[in-house]
This record gives sequence, C-alpha cells and structure tokens, in this order.
Amino acid sequence: MTNSEAVRNLRNTRTLRARVAPVVEFEADRGPRSVVRPLVTGLVAASLSLGVAVGVVTAASASASKQDQTSSMVDRNAPDTSSAKPIDKTLSAEQQAIEARLNKPAAQDQGALKAFEQRGTTVNRNSVRAQLSAELNNTTNSSRSVELGETNADVTSAQAAAQQKQLQQLMDADVAKVKKEAGRIKQEKVKAAALLKSSGGSTTGPVDLSILTSSGGGSLPLKAGTFHMGAGFGATGSWARYHTGQDFVAACGTPVYAASTGVVGTSVGGWAGYSLVLNHANGTSTLYAHLSRHAVAQGQVVKAGQLIGYVGNTGRSFGCHLHFEYYPAGTTPGDVYSTGNPLAFLRAIGVGI
Ligand SMILES: [Zn+2]
Repeated sequence: MTNSEAVRNLRNTRTLRARVAPVVEFEADRGPRSVVRPLVTGLVAASLSLGVAVGVVTAASASASKQDQTSSMVDRNAPDTSSAKPIDKTLSAEQQAIEARLNKPAAQDQGALKAFEQRGTTVNRNSVRAQLSAELNNTTNSSRSVELGETNADVTSAQAAAQQKQLQQLMDADVAKVKKEAGRIKQEKVKAAALLKSSGGSTTGPVDLSILTSSGGGSLPLKAGTFHMGAGFGATGSWARYHTGQDFVAACGTPVYAASTGVVGTSVGGWAGYSLVLNHANGTSTLYAHLSRHAVAQGQVVKAGQLIGYVGNTGRSFGCHLHFEYYPAGTTPGDVYSTGNPLAFLRAIGVGI
C-alpha cells in the first residue's frame, strides 16, 4: 500500500466513523426504546471498524431500555445532528457496501443483539451511562488516533520526499567531486592492479576462511546468517534516482568482509558515511557504505574474506545495513550511476546468494 493509499483509507475510515456517530444522536428524540437500537447498532458498527469489544455495553444498554423510559442516555454535549443528511449517493460502490455494513449489522450480529435485548438483567442506569460514556470516549480517542495517524502519514510522506531530494543533491555533489578526481582515481586503480600482481595478493591481515566460497576466490561481504537481503540494485523508491547497490540488512557492528582481493582506495563522499572502496586486480571495484568503523587503511592490500569494517548507519542511511556496490572495469568508484549489478558480480566470483 502506498502512502497516499494509506492516507485515503484513513480518511475513508474517519468519514465512515463520523457518519456512524450521528445515527446515535439523531434517533435520540424518538424515545429510549428506539434510542437503544441505533445506539447499539452504532456502537457495534463503530466497534466493527475499531476492533473494540462492545458486548458489555450492548448488553447493559439493551436491558436498561426496559428500566428507563425517560432518559435518552445520549450525550447532550454532542452537536445537534437532527438535520443529519442521508448517505452521500456519490460514494463509491465499495464505500457504500462498507457504509451499509456499518449501519446494518450482519445477521449474526442482529441475533446477538436480540439475545441481549431479551435478557431481563437489571442494570443500574448510572453504570450504563458510565459504560456508554467510556465506550464513546474510546471511540473518540480512536478517531483521534486515526487523525494523528493520518497527520503522521502526511508528515512521513513529506519527509520522505524531502529526504529523497536531499539525498539526490548530496549524491550529485559527491559524484561531481568524484568525476573531477577521476584522473587521480584511475591512477590509483592502475597502481592497485600492479600492486596486487607484484604482491600476489599477499596481505598481513587475517582472512576468515569460513566465509570464503569454494570457487572463484570470492566472499560474501557478510557472513551467512548475520544478515537478510534489503533493497536490491535498480530498485526505485526512497533513493535519489534508483538504488545503485545491494543492501544487506544486519545489526550495527556486524563484521564486513572483502568480497574479493583488492587494495583499499579513496573513500567516496558524504552520502556513503564511513565507506571503503576496494580496487581489484582486473580493474573492477567494490564499495562498502554506511560502516560504523573501518578495520583497514587506504593503500592496504586485503584478501577476499578479510575483515575490512563493521556494519553501521553512517551517511544518508536510515537503519543499520551495508550498502554494497560493484563498479565494472573502466568506471570510477563513487560515480554511483555507473555501477553494475552487485549480485551478478558476486555470482561471477563464485558467491551464490
Ligand atoms: Zn543501499
């Protein structure tokens, strides 16, 4: 359900509820016996949409009708709705069906109401009034919370739009910076490839062998069982233009591992928070964003499966996760709209997800 649909539904609920309440008051002048039925109907109807148990009240009000021939049991502070309009004929078929259901309880509800009315229990009038007031208060409070929910939904959606715009501006600025430095970053990649060839990928850092896959020398960036898949590559929604990587949702502090052997390069801009770029021997690169902490330094050679950092929530991130990007050969790490599909990359180095 989209935000706007949610808001529409909330509005519909509120409108329908508003129509239920006047039925209670509108019928008040016809006398207690006729008051009770609409009251009960109204309350049952309200409870149908609110999920409030109303049995006690209906039982109490039904038996009270035999006791009290003068009191209307209606809140006189409520606005006069004696000129209440009939149901708006412009309602959609769906809304009319809901309206009809609210105003006319189902057969089993009517049977239950009849049973309540036939019960000859003596009930104190004040206690009935108290119970009814409590029930009406519940209804009012629930209506209020629906209104609050609606307001929050509006705010949330407005915030989301603002955040999306902010993120887009931030990323555009960072991408522009990266493009400006593309020459230097390209040199860094060439050096990294040479270093990896000369060192044979040797590294002083510890490699967690349990994370390495059997073929291709690749590694999952997070250990199996420590994460679940988040937003995928190319997804649209709360992102600047589209989602440029794969999200791995995990607790902050979860260890992050190098997907492939590489050299730590220049980190990208502010949107990524604490981030790491690894430049691999074949000219490709991987990026690990929103980390809470680095475990390696720029220029360091790291092996596939080596601990490089920890999951965090830094930069433009809304919850602990690793945002993982893949840059094909010839692209500039940090130029986010040149990324490739990171899961396809992982599969290519023998890592199945
Ligand atoms: Zn992401």
